[in-house]
Amino acid sequence: MPFEGLSKIWMNGSFVDFEDAKVHVLSHVVHYGSGVFEGIRCYNTERGPEIFRLHDHIRRLYDSCRIYRMRPERSIEDFEQACIDSIVENDLKDCYIRPLVYRGFNTLGVDPRKCPIEMMIAVWKWGKYLGEDGIEKGVDVCVSSWNRMAPNTFPAMAKSTANYMNSQLIRMEAGVDGYEEGIALATDGYVSEGSGENIFIIRDGRIITPPLGASVLPGITRDSLMTLAKERGYQVTESRVPREMLYIADEMFFTGTAAEVTPIRSVDRIPVGNGARGPITEELQTAFFDYLNGRVEDRYGWMTSVYGRKDAAKDVVGAGSATA
Ligand code: PMP
Repeated sequence: MPFEGLSKIWMNGSFVDFEDAKVHVLSHVVHYGSGVFEGIRCYNTERGPEIFRLHDHIRRLYDSCRIYRMRPERSIEDFEQACIDSIVENDLKDCYIRPLVYRGFNTLGVDPRKCPIEMMIAVWKWGKYLGEDGIEKGVDVCVSSWNRMAPNTFPAMAKSTANYMNSQLIRMEAGVDGYEEGIALATDGYVSEGSGENIFIIRDGRIITPPLGASVLPGITRDSLMTLAKERGYQVTESRVPREMLYIADEMFFTGTAAEVTPIRSVDRIPVGNGARGPITEELQTAFFDYLNGRVEDRYGWMTSVYGRKDAAKDVVGAGSATA
């Protein structure tokens, strides 16, 4: 069972059994990629299960909807609550949350506006995306022969299902050639991002990440890492990164909800630094994981308690002591 811990899926306002969570094959989304989604994580912190930056993720989801002229019936607050309820309904503590808004069944004309806007949320246990080992030792990556989307084609700021056809080309090519991930350049030849991660480069103690204008998704982990790095006194700049910077960086890492903070140990078989996780990467990983696991105070208000909210659907025994 690839979706461990998942028994009920939230669809348009009610929970349905896993087996019954279906869409018609003639739904617009199936043919034309008319969907936008999010990937969010809930951590079983020392304070009990808490969702990392739930509001920022759902806000980005609604931004994606706006870009594609999709108007969800539900408010952001309602949909956030549905994410919380989904975790409670499935009795999970530590999980990945996948909300999706998509155009359903009506017409297969390219103009989708007659198709209903449907919403779903699934939650399940998902381990380290780039491997348990990857978090400590780093991953081997290549520069992809595929570019990210040109800015006036597919909007990179929208997390649309269609964008992931591009991601799949990058990821498959990397996998077939024996790498764990690919880094794509933007159409101007400057570094953009991984197939499902933003990228950070460190040289002489300074931290650089490509700007939003480089066809990157405005990653929420990216923003978190920038905040934590600045807090520690590092200079963090968003600037264009020429490809060759990847070969002369001291340290490099990916950020993403699934990948969390994963060091990169080689690019095109050229070792990054000495080929092991670097000290700044390790320091930032520690700061990040301490935050996620509730080992430090939630000083930025990034965490949303799951079982502690009075309006959660039901109580779960052993869900931790967070009841505020
Ligand atoms: N870029 C792409 C293409 C992604 O799919 C993701 C994962 N959502 C990211 C960056 C990282 O974004 P986040 O930190 O918000 O998960």
